[in-house]
Amino acid sequence: MPKTPTPNSTVTTLDTLLSHITVDYPDFSFVEGTRFAWHASTKYVSFKRSASTERGTWALLHELGHALLDHTDYHHDIELLQIEATAWEKARALAENYSLMIDDDYIQDCLDTYRDWLHLRATCPTCFARSLQASPRCYHCFNCGAEWQVTRSRLCRPYRLQTV
Ligand SMILES: [Zn+2]
Ligand SMILES: [Zn+2]
Repeated sequence: MPKTPTPNSTVTTLDTLLSHITVDYPDFSFVEGTRFAWHASTKYVSFKRSASTERGTWALLHELGHALLDHTDYHHDIELLQIEATAWEKARALAENYSLMIDDDYIQDCLDTYRDWLHLRATCPTCFARSLQASPRCYHCFNCGAEWQVTRSRLCRPYRLQTV
């Protein structure tokens, strides 16, 4: 008789997941910190003990996804969205190995924060036309010719800002 997967049937804590992934992925270190992030240069994943255990496990798998995909830096904002989407794809595949299921709405919400961010940065402050990024730190409006600087953003910010 085939074994039926039972996602979310037991509460998997962040600690349980950590105990598995530290064994399964010995190349990376997992360090408690103030946020969930993949630190490419030093090859470690930081994690935070958050109120929601479930979301914590998702975020941890997402960061592990970045690690396994060897994500480092990006030059244009649009690449960041791509990087985030592939890290979630990876996280979804990893979740199956640990009998977890990542809520797709949650993933879309996370990606939406990047889409919103991208939209804001790409909107011309003068004429509000949607513009293209000219260089890593500069946008150029093809409609009115305005140029504006943008700051680099962190590689990873998996949470929609604390609105829920
Ligand atoms: Zn403009
Ligand atoms: Zn990410």
